Amino acid sequence: MMRALACGPPGTPLQLERRPVPQPGDGQLLIRVAACGVCRTDLHVVDGELPRARPGVVPGHEIVGEVAATGSGPACERWPVGSRAGVPWLGDTCGRCRYCRDGRENLCEQARFTGCDLDGGYADYVLADAAYCLPVPDSYSAAAAAPLLCAGLIGYRSLRLAGDPARLGLYGFGAAAHIVAQLAVAEGREVYAFTRPDDVAAQRLARSLGACWADSSELAPPEELDAAIVFAPVGPLVPLALTRLARGGTVVCAGIHMSDIPSFPYRDLWNERVIRSVANLTRRDGEEFMALAARLPIHTEVHEFPLEQADEALGGLRCGAFAGAAVLRP
Ligand SMILES: [Zn+2]
Ligand SMILES: [Zn+2]
Repeated sequence: MMRALACGPPGTPLQLERRPVPQPGDGQLLIRVAACGVCRTDLHVVDGELPRARPGVVPGHEIVGEVAATGSGPACERWPVGSRAGVPWLGDTCGRCRYCRDGRENLCEQARFTGCDLDGGYADYVLADAAYCLPVPDSYSAAAAAPLLCAGLIGYRSLRLAGDPARLGLYGFGAAAHIVAQLAVAEGREVYAFTRPDDVAAQRLARSLGACWADSSELAPPEELDAAIVFAPVGPLVPLALTRLARGGTVVCAGIHMSDIPSFPYRDLWNERVIRSVANLTRRDGEEFMALAARLPIHTEVHEFPLEQADEALGGLRCGAFAGAAVLRP
């Protein structure tokens, strides 16, 4: 038997269940969870803010674990029993639609997502499609690597979609921003970190990771930004970030859910400024980012919680109680 934490009705605590350990089917891996990161998307799932989330699903899509058993099929051959595997948000795709065929599988309308459609890593074991699992660099502990699987990946994709900014603003300095800040600094970019007005801990973390400026999101940065990535699920930050951009700059909205975006004057968008979202990840993003993480290396600021304290971890994330990322350890 294994433990799994399943979603109850919105606003209620996760429910601890005892379930039989599942058996891997064709193309699947059974993974013993060593660490599972707590992502803001998990909050949206447990709060009932994602209509697509399956009722009673087990959240968690930043999973690092050890392959305990494999099904048959060629995709499983990469993952011998005992090897380490990462399970990201993208759980599977149809492989046939126009998005899948032209390298945009992140946009597949049939895609299924870990910890949303498919049971995720708030458990002792998880089943995953071997073709969508990612290698995890040996140089990271399981807990240190877990935030790479979504916070790191979505940060990586967001940075690529931000263009080639010399000056990059990050709105909301949590798990994703603290990783993307390191990527951006390593690429020679100036990083400006915007936090809640009184979040001194996040501002301090941002400076320690190489940000040249860190302060309240209500303040204007000392220089115009070439791009800004909005990680906080706060719609009013989008037109605010837009006013901080130089001509031709881009605001990237990186979250899966956000409060409504207020209207703003067209002149703020004028001069080829862009607002765009970033959705999910492709397997190519995953392979590229994990190779980068193996080279750099990236420091992840991790706060570990035992599996049973997932609600405390989610509550801490909700109110900004810690800087960096929360990780569950079974
Ligand atoms: Zn597809
Ligand atoms: Zn996530």
